[in-house]
Amino acid sequence: MNQSTKHRQAFDRSTQLCLRFPANSSRVRASCCKELAFPTSTSQSPIAVNYGGMLGPVDTLTKRQAITTEIGNTMPNKATWIDTCSDTECFMQGLERRNPGELEFHQAVREFVETVMPFVLKHRKYKDAQILERMTEPDRIVIFRVTWEDDAGNIRANRAWRVQFNNSIGPYKGGMRFHPDATLSVLKFLGFEQTFKNSLTGLPMGGAKGGANFNPKGKSDREVMRFCQSLMIELHRHIGEDTDVPAGDIGVGAREISYLFGQYKRLENRFAGILTGKGLTFGGSLVRTEATGYGCVYFCENMLNHVEDSLKEKTCVVSGSGNVAIYTAEKAAELGARVVVMSDSSGFIHDPAGIDAEKLAFIKNLKEVRRGRIAEYADKFEGVTFHPEERPWNVPCDVAFPCATQNEISLDDAKALIANGVKAVCEGANMPTELAGAHAFLEAGILYAPSKAANAGGVAVSGLEQSQNALRLSWSREEVDEKLKTIMRDIHDKCVEYGQTDGFVNYVLGANIAGFIKVADAMLAYGVV
Ligand code: NAP
Repeated sequence: MNQSTKHRQAFDRSTQLCLRFPANSSRVRASCCKELAFPTSTSQSPIAVNYGGMLGPVDTLTKRQAITTEIGNTMPNKATWIDTCSDTECFMQGLERRNPGELEFHQAVREFVETVMPFVLKHRKYKDAQILERMTEPDRIVIFRVTWEDDAGNIRANRAWRVQFNNSIGPYKGGMRFHPDATLSVLKFLGFEQTFKNSLTGLPMGGAKGGANFNPKGKSDREVMRFCQSLMIELHRHIGEDTDVPAGDIGVGAREISYLFGQYKRLENRFAGILTGKGLTFGGSLVRTEATGYGCVYFCENMLNHVEDSLKEKTCVVSGSGNVAIYTAEKAAELGARVVVMSDSSGFIHDPAGIDAEKLAFIKNLKEVRRGRIAEYADKFEGVTFHPEERPWNVPCDVAFPCATQNEISLDDAKALIANGVKAVCEGANMPTELAGAHAFLEAGILYAPSKAANAGGVAVSGLEQSQNALRLSWSREEVDEKLKTIMRDIHDKCVEYGQTDGFVNYVLGANIAGFIKVADAMLAYGVV
């Protein structure tokens, strides 16, 4: 028996029924899809019912009658079924039961469903087609072992995944992450979010994500190469330019993409655009390296312009010092902002004078070439402090760009940012803010751009790389950058269109609804598949 503040509820494993009954109400609510109204008080009536949120048509009337007969005899004669449909809580109970222990996945779906559910309830076609239930189940997941040999001749084994989440609007697309903390839950949350992010770009790309619990840190180039080659021996049969086109993510940069692509080419004897983020001499696109960070800053500038402000002279905190963080800092500084913080997993540096182009060149070399630690920045430049093992959100700023990893902003961090007067939070990393922190930003009325909108620039330019590969052409830097700016502006405008409420733009609502509609409509068009 589970207790919650609003309802008493119980899940009966033998009958697979979820019973939910408000203590002081004459209504007994079924847990998934219907509500039962009683003319008299029925506080002792544990009525009905769904199938533990399992997929498929939710209970027929006949089944419900059978169930109510089975569980109790207190059902009044004049009970009527009211077709009010499920709410977020009931939906989440089912999802959590089907995906036990996958906390990151639960979090990403909850954030999505709590904004999209009212829209689905208003538009019956989505509800009747069980669109949310179908959308939260990946099309397919491939899990495989990657065996390789380290420099000392030891045999090593890792686990790898490719989560092909949804290809309703185009071939699967999404990065590969190499990190010791990579789990199925993390990759499912990323693949789920990717589906709607890709939809927002306006390009024909489905959603996927993959990776391995492999730690590239401290490995030699040869070890990374052997790992990538071994991984591709399995992955190659699941990807293709019209099937699934992976890219980079945490731990997978230009070096790893090159090794993966080289092995694919060898195995398949084809030179095809089956990965993005490739080197410029073998099918890569200009601006792809910079795209996620630049796109994030373009999005932020759009948000600020919408309230007649801009990034000029704003103090910014950027977390991380990887691909997204570096190019976020670069573009923010170019637009006149002062970036005072960057970090890595060992702590953050605070440079009150600001990280200018010359200092950023040092960070690029440190991180992209020497693969060193951010603490070295504090040794190199005057007036800089290093804060080991700390997050940077207590440093006062106008704009925060979390660009490191998921759940790096807790509720307390969000409160600290708000208390210090932050005007905008623009997410370069995927789901960097815990749900309670995201709620706090929205309640405080700050400009809050969720990752699926703010960091879509990376995958957008990946989409442009695919187009260039298909055309066997290379566009100029200016051309790609211009297209990126246009895509980010269009995403911003879609968020405003769907997220405008009482003069305030709720970018979470806008991004979720706009991303949802395109995918949902394609799924409806395909019928029951
Ligand atoms: P990256 O180049 O590998 O850099 C990741 C950065 O985050 C590094 O500075 C890393 O520090 C730091 N970091 C990782 N785990 C951390 C942790 N647990 N605590 C604190 N810092 C941590 O990866 P990236 O490509 O920039 O990706 C960063 C984020 O952006 C991820 O959420 C990714 O999914 C998202 N994203 C990336 C792209 C893209 O195009 N690359 C596109 C969209 C979204 P250490 O070096 O110390 O580990």
